[in-house]
Amino acid sequence: MKGENPEPSPVLTRESSIRFQCRPSLPCFTKCCRDVTIFLGPYDVVRLRRRLGMTSGEFLRHYTITLLPEASGFPLLILRMDEKRDKKCPFVGPGGCTVYEDRPWSCRMFPLDKGEREGQYLFVASKDLCLGEDGAEEISVADYLLSQGVPHYEEVEERLRALGPEPGMLREPIRNPRLQHMCRMAMYDVDTFRRLVMESRFLEIFYVERDLLERIPTDDIAVLELGQRWLRFGLQEGESLRLREGILGRDAAEGRK
Ligand code: SF4
Ligand code: SF4
Repeated sequence: MKGENPEPSPVLTRESSIRFQCRPSLPCFTKCCRDVTIFLGPYDVVRLRRRLGMTSGEFLRHYTITLLPEASGFPLLILRMDEKRDKKCPFVGPGGCTVYEDRPWSCRMFPLDKGEREGQYLFVASKDLCLGEDGAEEISVADYLLSQGVPHYEEVEERLRALGPEPGMLREPIRNPRLQHMCRMAMYDVDTFRRLVMESRFLEIFYVERDLLERIPTDDIAVLELGQRWLRFGLQEGESLRLREGILGRDAAEGRK
């Protein structure tokens, strides 16, 4: 977020106290919502696109930029700032955040960020730009995060991460554009991946548990879960998905025809 402090802050824990209350009466109100790098996770995307009544493909096209880090080649998404409005966040209005209930994880975290170790936090707001500390009451880090709905976001993202490929375990960086496109689809483009599952040979090839399959048509989280397992299967092998019996022999025989 804009207003981040360039100086290192003391390391906080969940029990530490902070003073912070963002409110419309502050002169800095919404100033932090411009020219910022906001990474979006898969759950951010499904929440925002539902909020906006868009398909995931439309959301990705209109509101995101895809980054391909040199080290991993694994696609990451950032929110596209509005160049025509002085690089403001596309969702900021005069009354504040217009998608507040569905705002991304990193907006919920501010003025905090994660520290280097599990359970560590940093206070990253710069006192020069962000006046949220002025006149605010003390609150523990844990209560602040709870008040912003952070734990729910982290639960969902953690579940997805546990199912998906571990970037550190990739044998080599992904360089093939087709593979990068498939990763982006399975990670963030739920509607396209759902179509792939329901309308291609996907279910002839892979065994998908009945309870998960029943959720696929309507539940975006189920689609993301299956997408993560599919990526792990493709990128790291292992047993995150099971091939249907006979599929290897049959495909080999078809290949010989
Ligand atoms: S208090 Fe901080 S977070 Fe709130 S509007 Fe002002 S700059 Fe942004
Ligand atoms: S999503 Fe909302 S809170 Fe986050 S930068 Fe945009 S307007 Fe600000």
